Amino acid sequence: MGELSYHNQAALVIGAGISGFAAAKYLAAAGARVMLSDAKEEADAEKDASAQKHIEELRAQGISCVFGAQREELLDGIDLVVLSPAVPERIPLVQAAYACGIRVTTEVELAGETARAPICAVTGTNGKTTTTTLLGELLRAHFPAVGVGGNIGVPLIDVAQEIPADGAIAAEISSYQMEATAHFHAHIAAELNVTPDHILRHGSMEVYQAMKEKLFAAQTAEDFLVLNDDDPHTRGMANRAKGRVCFFSRRRELEEGACVRADGMIILRWDGTEHVLIPAKELGIRGGHNVENALAAAAMAFFAGVTPAEMRPVLRSFKGVEHRIEFVRTLNGVSYYNDSKATNTDSAIKALEAFDGHIILIAGGDDKLTDLTEFMALVCARCDELILVGDAAERFAAAALDAGISAAQIHRAGYHMETAVRTAHALAAEGQTVLLSPACASFDMYGGYEERGQDFKRIVNEL
Ligand code: ADP
Repeated sequence: MGELSYHNQAALVIGAGISGFAAAKYLAAAGARVMLSDAKEEADAEKDASAQKHIEELRAQGISCVFGAQREELLDGIDLVVLSPAVPERIPLVQAAYACGIRVTTEVELAGETARAPICAVTGTNGKTTTTTLLGELLRAHFPAVGVGGNIGVPLIDVAQEIPADGAIAAEISSYQMEATAHFHAHIAAELNVTPDHILRHGSMEVYQAMKEKLFAAQTAEDFLVLNDDDPHTRGMANRAKGRVCFFSRRRELEEGACVRADGMIILRWDGTEHVLIPAKELGIRGGHNVENALAAAAMAFFAGVTPAEMRPVLRSFKGVEHRIEFVRTLNGVSYYNDSKATNTDSAIKALEAFDGHIILIAGGDDKLTDLTEFMALVCARCDELILVGDAAERFAAAALDAGISAAQIHRAGYHMETAVRTAHALAAEGQTVLLSPACASFDMYGGYEERGQDFKRIVNEL
């Protein structure tokens, strides 16, 4: 579709990240003359081995890669500028492009133009990856070819090109990807929630919400918009919807929409028919927040054509995404869960709420210095033991004592995950749950939360 129109166009892709690389390759294949620019120095960009490989591949395809100072001359003769999600619109080079009347777009917008299969797009402050991944699994129960991409480690443009017209695409979309996107069409879109986050990048809550609303701006009456009825920000979006609105709620029964019935059954009421899915407690993912994610994913899948019978086994077997309340193993009647992605207290609170108590919690790490009152009150109510690691250990210990946790319940493992896990193992009795949900970043001990979660799982599996 859009491909022919890029023939002989001169395109500047800004940002040497995976979306930028993918957009550059796509445009070059479509016949454009492509240049890639990043403000980083080349040596820094190439520290990442996979980036280095991409840069070599681009150069082999005749795409010039320019690093360092981004002077306005880069725009000479350029017809099209494509931004990576990490690049804010406000940088001078992008402002200059707008001032010259050059079209500025994003990898996501190009993906939308070229996709043949319908796109089901998920956005929200929290729950995007879980919902998008589950949606992909639900779609797989029905469609011959399914692609999952976007803000989830796989560029959407690669997925868009790969999936034929009779397939389906699940897309995770972040507010960053929407900033310079003018026109992106999702046949089915979902808004999970909007809470203050990324305000630094977008300037205000209003602008942040406007970015989220771009997801459905290009919809028509034939499209569907799935909205969280429990969140006032997303509920209010119904007034601006172009397609048919389907609400979901885990708190109240809806006359129309996806919800949990008084008897605990997940249902979908649409066009006068009630479709029964599974009891909420049989979902493979834990916690009330995950009920919301499942409701949104099921509603989207339903509009895409997946039947309730196709959905049921998937809703039961989907165990969530790695590092998000991920079940690791049961040993001597003790279950071990990895929630390394909980890098702040809000996330860790969600995890604590997902269990009925008797938790042995491993927390701490690179301290974000946020208030711990609410978190520690919940630790006090739900945890039998607290094992602390990393830079945050002493501040967390003091807050735990303040919250009423006894000194005997607090254990210290220094900077050693191995010690933390072995301490938990030694303390744990049948029926208890060992949970890594650190409420901290990981950089005092690891290169990222993924590394931390993998280390935890390795040690747990070696017990
Ligand atoms: P995202 O991709 O938006 O960051 P994830 O699916 O990776 O979301 O979940 C990250 C964390 O956000 C989870 O560990 C959980 O603590 C929290 N979370 C997940 N889903 C929701 C939700 N629907 N509402 C609120 N918080 C959620």
